[in-house]
Formats: sequence, C-alpha cells, structure tokens
Amino acid sequence: MTSANAAAAPVASNLSFVQPTTISAWGSYLAQIDRVTPYLGPLARNAETLRRPKRIMIVDVPIELDNGEYAHFEGYRVQHNLSRGPGKGGVRYHPDVTLEEVMALAAWMTVKNAAVNLPYGGAKGGIRLDPRALSCKELERATRRYTSEIGVIIGPQQDIPAPDVNTDAQIMAWMMDTYSMNVGASSPGVVTGKPVHLGGSLGRAKATGRGVFVMGCDAMRRLGLPVEGARVAIQGFGNVGSTAAVLFAAAGAKIVAVQDADGAVFNDAGLAVEKLAGHVRRHGTVAGFAEAEKLDREDFWDVACDVMLPAALEGQIDVVRAERLKARLVLEGANGPTLPQADDILASRNITVLPDVICNAGGVTVSYFEWVQDFASYFWTEEQINQRLDKIVLDALHHIWDTAMRLNISLRTAAFVVGCERVLTAHAERGLYP
Ligand code: NAD
Repeated sequence: MTSANAAAAPVASNLSFVQPTTISAWGSYLAQIDRVTPYLGPLARNAETLRRPKRIMIVDVPIELDNGEYAHFEGYRVQHNLSRGPGKGGVRYHPDVTLEEVMALAAWMTVKNAAVNLPYGGAKGGIRLDPRALSCKELERATRRYTSEIGVIIGPQQDIPAPDVNTDAQIMAWMMDTYSMNVGASSPGVVTGKPVHLGGSLGRAKATGRGVFVMGCDAMRRLGLPVEGARVAIQGFGNVGSTAAVLFAAAGAKIVAVQDADGAVFNDAGLAVEKLAGHVRRHGTVAGFAEAEKLDREDFWDVACDVMLPAALEGQIDVVRAERLKARLVLEGANGPTLPQADDILASRNITVLPDVICNAGGVTVSYFEWVQDFASYFWTEEQINQRLDKIVLDALHHIWDTAMRLNISLRTAAFVVGCERVLTAHAERGLYP
C-alpha cells in the first residue's frame, strides 16, 4: 500500500492512541486513508490531519443503581474533524465500545458528511455499558450524566449527537432536556433523532434504512440486478436493518436470511418481514421466529443471495467471510462492516460494495434536515423530507460512481476521494491557526 503523505514532512506527535493496537476499526480507517491519499493530488500534503482526531473527551459516568449502589461507566465523545462545520455523529451504547472504535466512527462521519456534502464535521460518542442490564431509570440517569459531562463540547453550533446502536429517540429526548436545563434555554438543535413532539423530524427514524434501500436499488439497476425477486440477506434487524428489510420486501425482493445478536433465521421463499418485526418487538430477537428455519450463526455467511446487507457492527466481513459470501452486491448499512483486506477479496470476486460512508448516509441527511427545521422552527412534511433525502443521496451516489469509473477505483476509495478532497480543501482555505 502506498501513502502519498509519506513524502510529506514528518509530524511530531506523542499521541500513541492514534496508532491502532490490533486490527481495529481505527486500523481499518487508517488503511482506507492510505488507499485514498495517492488520489488527493496536492491536497495529500495535509492528509495527516485526517489521521488525527481533533478532540477527544473521556468521561466518567457514575450513576446510582436502583438498588442504591453506585456504578461507573466510561463515556467518550470524539470530534474527529471540524473543518467543514460543527461535529455530527451518533452516540452508541454497547458493552464493547472502546475509544478506538469511537475514533473510527467519528472519522467515518467526517468522510460521510463531506461525501454527501452536508455542512458538518465528523464526531461520535459512546458509553461502555450494556443497556439490557440496566433499568429504564438507570439508563436515563446514565444518559443525563453523560450529556452533562460532554456538555462543554456539544451544542447546536458545536457538535450535534444523534442515535446509533442501542440509542433511540427517547435517549435523544433525555439528552436534549439535560442540555437545555444546563444552558437555561430550550435547545432542540443540540441533538437530532428526537421525538417529533420535541422538534424531531418526520422521516428521521426510517431515514438510514430508506437511504440504503434507495441507493441499493440504484446500484442494483447499474449492475443489472432486478429488485423484484432479488434475494437479500441482512445482518442486524434494528433501526437500519429492519427498515431496509421492509422496503426491499415491499419492492418485491425476498429477505431470505436475517441474523441479529442472538440468532439467525432463514426462509428460502422469503421471510414475512412485518411478522418478523412483530416477533422482534415481543422477544427482542429474530431467534425463535416460527415461520423460518433456524440458521447457525456462521452459516448465515453462506446463504445464496444477490444482496448482503450488514447492518450491525464493524469488522463483520473479514477475509474468511469475504471468500464465502455468495452475494453480487454488499450494501453497508453498518459503519465499517468490511475489513480492508476483505474489500480486496470482494473486488477480486467481482462483488460490488456500496460503502458505509455513502450507503448509510440517509440518517445523517435527515438529521441535517431536522437541525435546519429546528433553527427555522418550521417543519416540513414527510413527503418533502423523503424527496429531498432521495435527491441528496442519489446525487452523491452518482458523483461517487462516476469518480470510481473515471479513476478506475473502488466505490469506497471514490467516496473517500470525494469526501477527503472537500475536507482538505476546507482545511486549506481556513488555514492553520494561529
Ligand atoms: P440498532 O441498535 O437499532 O440495531 C442493531 C442490530 O444489530 C440489532 O438487531 C442487534 O441485535 C444486531 N447486532 C448487534 N450485535 C450483533 C452481532 N454481533 N451479530 C449480529 N447482529 C448483531 O442499531 P442501528 O441504529 O440499526 O445501527 C446498526 C448499524 O448501522 C451500526 O453500525 C450503526 O453505526 C449504523 N448506522 C446507524 C444509523 C442510524 O440512523 N441508526 C445511521 C448510520 C449508520
């Protein structure tokens, strides 16, 4: 792998955390930056800035449990790059969240927001906790304390969190309320993905899955794959995976396999996704769904399909699974689901990957609409939102697809070219302070 910035002046740093410790999400991101740098021309001179998060905050989140004891959780907010505007990116609650993971997720937000041309930098946050082990009241206390702790660096003009894995509109409502109480004024624009009654946007809850579907259909058309009758396998049946599943099924595709954290199910004729969603609402998992065969976790990756839609966590498609995949197209609903080495294998097997930084950008696009509506205190119809969403993401996809064709590079590297060029141009125009 070449790194065009290898020739640039060495950058003094003692920041050991910017070096990945293992094959991690941050390591994947750095490898992706290595791949894009040769295509950045004179802008590559400043590519080093993409390798360094601008600001990292690690906070202790102590709460009183329902039994009267105290518990401490570690929380993070990373602002990777703010050259193009305030930070924007979700908050993840997961027992395995690490600083390195949040750094990578923040960096991917920088590239994504720029690739779609939204006026934001990239940020992300998380708390290392298992929400399933906490009561609703405990979760509220953790959310409010975390929001207070990161309150000095977030704000409608500074950094705007949103939902991610295991966080939802209720968590955003608590964040908005806590921040508003602390600043002494109602501040709906501090988070997006809020309930509609609190200044949330129509269409936000389904926006990421809708974007995956709309761009997925466009990519399928380009590849000559009809949506009607297409076989789709989905990992993750939460916000992103379930919304995309419903839309693909409504368009005539067959959702043949779904895997979540607790199991996997298969139906060669196509799963009844609305019924499956009902089962998940009642039981919290796809496992045990009656109208399907049980699938062993690893066997999920062998399912014959046209489209594989990872919509869970990072690092799911490694080199071994990339060799096994039987899809023609991978739609990255999740952030960072494919390791860089697996990307190469998929490319050699002629499997097209629509990368996360464009494929799941529907969510942040409608978050942007929500933020704009909150500032104007004037709200749009769902029809207007969906029309504008479709136009923004499809325009971005066309530009990235054309870039990939012109430079003969993967769609991921093309999305990084488009995004990183915009970030580094803004960086150069602003100049180095002081
Ligand atoms: P969610 O919490 O609603 O759902 C996550 C799903 O993944 C659940 O079905 C869960 O069971 C499953 N899962 C978790 N661990 C798993 C494992 N080890 N194996 C298989 N399945 C597992 O989360 P979400 O909001 O749907 O986010 C999913 C992905 O999409 C994440 O990578 C997130 O960063 C990305 N994303 C989300 C949004 C958004 O608007 N929510 C926007 C852009 C990207």
